Amino acid sequence: MENIKQLLRKGALDLNFDTVVIGSGMAGLSAASLLSKQGQKVLVLEANYLPGGCSSSYYRQGYWFESGATTLVGLDDKMPLQYLLQQLGLEIIANKLQLPMQVHLNGQTINRYHNLEQWINEAERVFGIKGQRPFWEKAFEVSQLVWSNSIKQLAFPPSSLNDLLQSARNVSLSQLKSLPYAFGTIEDWLNEYGLIGNQPFVQFIDAQLMITAQNTHQEVNQLFGSAALCYTNYGNYYLKGGMIELPKLLVEYLLANGSDYRSRQKVELITPELNGYRVDTNSHSFTCKYVVSAIPLNNTVDLWCDNKLKTKHSSYIMESPKLNSAFQMGIAFNRTKSFPCLHHQIHLRKPLPLIGSTSIFVSLSHPDDLERAPLGAAVASVSTHVPDPEKSLSFNKKTVEDAIMEVLMEHGFFKREELLYSFSADPKAWQDWLHRKYGFVGGYPQYKTIKPWQMKDARLDGKGAYICGDSTYPGQGIPGATLSGIIAAHKLLLDHK
Ligand SMILES: Cc1cc2nc3c(=O)[nH]c(=O)nc-3n(C[C@H](O)[C@H](O)[C@H](O)COP(=O)(O)OP(=O)(O)OC[C@H]3O[C@@H](n4cnc5c(N)ncnc54)[C@H](O)[C@@H]3O)c2cc1C
Repeated sequence: MENIKQLLRKGALDLNFDTVVIGSGMAGLSAASLLSKQGQKVLVLEANYLPGGCSSSYYRQGYWFESGATTLVGLDDKMPLQYLLQQLGLEIIANKLQLPMQVHLNGQTINRYHNLEQWINEAERVFGIKGQRPFWEKAFEVSQLVWSNSIKQLAFPPSSLNDLLQSARNVSLSQLKSLPYAFGTIEDWLNEYGLIGNQPFVQFIDAQLMITAQNTHQEVNQLFGSAALCYTNYGNYYLKGGMIELPKLLVEYLLANGSDYRSRQKVELITPELNGYRVDTNSHSFTCKYVVSAIPLNNTVDLWCDNKLKTKHSSYIMESPKLNSAFQMGIAFNRTKSFPCLHHQIHLRKPLPLIGSTSIFVSLSHPDDLERAPLGAAVASVSTHVPDPEKSLSFNKKTVEDAIMEVLMEHGFFKREELLYSFSADPKAWQDWLHRKYGFVGGYPQYKTIKPWQMKDARLDGKGAYICGDSTYPGQGIPGATLSGIIAAHKLLLDHK
């Protein structure tokens, strides 16, 4: 590695950033923009050519495809994205979906209505009266506790005396009420409401949990599980132009606010120095007082110049057998009919070859969104889980693609002659595109042995390094990643007043 004088001579060393943020996913951009708002000079380094990571969009063959996430919640009152935008004085144009999702199971179409009462009636119609009302009323009540408290406890999980004091000061009755649900699982509720023997319902619950909590009823606790299962009972939004509109807005905010964003800068090494850190990328070196790593913990510890962080956080690191990646397809087709809903979960009659998935998730572009596809055409994003991605980095994609195409045609999304373009991505593609170890995506899954306060909190080295993103508390999804970025910024500012 070159020394500082050599780098200065070449003009490849940038000094004087307060904070360098690694990665421009929703976690990194949330942390960066809040720190910038507080007057810090922040630099965001992004390895990719686009911002947004798993919640972005990219252009190919005349269409804009989603990089990962397709459904968006968190913009309602007291939710993380709404809090973030409010803090920054920003607004985003988002269309609220009337019908957030349809689930196709055993030949039936289940409408996941936004209104709780309407949804309970639908659940009773499909799965029978027994247990549905108390199950969903309880889940919704707990999900409300979760969301209403999410941005009130920014020092959680506590890892310093300051955090403890702040958590104690902010504690409310509703937070105490939510505590017992961290100990119970969704399986406990299924037993309590006499639903565990209702096989189609358990199948439905598991597939819904997999897309939001990355695990099934035996493992997901009631706190995270309730928020996951009631996902459709909160405002679900569509962004015209694609998910990239959200990261784009935050990058624009950073640049307008005196901070910096640089793409194609892959961080390769972080070295603690006397008064901060040196961050080396593929082409530049930067120095800063603080670092926020907004990439998974698995990747973060490998960037450290020594093994100290890896050793310190080894108990928090999940390895491939506990993680998932995704097989994803982007498909453009002629839109010859209208669809009542944009998002569809399809349960499969037989598992997909090679990867064994039993359901797929399909999201369509909005018919009025002519930025993503021209008039008369539509774009579909299809994704499904690939467990233990280290073992399945690459496989014969064509076999899986063909099976998915058959399912989509069988469900009437398009006919073969209406296909315009398609491509697919396996775990290796995620690894190459976003550098996430083993290509794992969707965040750390929920496990019942890991309570919320046992997840990795934002502090990394007890000095000036912090972490956020979907491998840390509070985990997956855009609202979770955003909240983790808000928490990291909050803790950094709390520690270095
Ligand atoms: C197929 C799929 C579907 C999903 N569906 C939904 C959904 O519908 N709704 C929802 O809310 N969530 C969904 N999610 C989950 C959600 O998208 C993610 O959990 C969230 O966006 C993760 O954000 P993040 O900031 O933690 O990480 P990322 O989005 O992974 O951001 C990390 C960034 O860091 C960059 N990076 C990595 N290494 C380096 C390095 N060394 N140097 C510099 N930069 C680096 C990457 O390029 C990336 O841009 C989905 C995810 C996938 C994959």
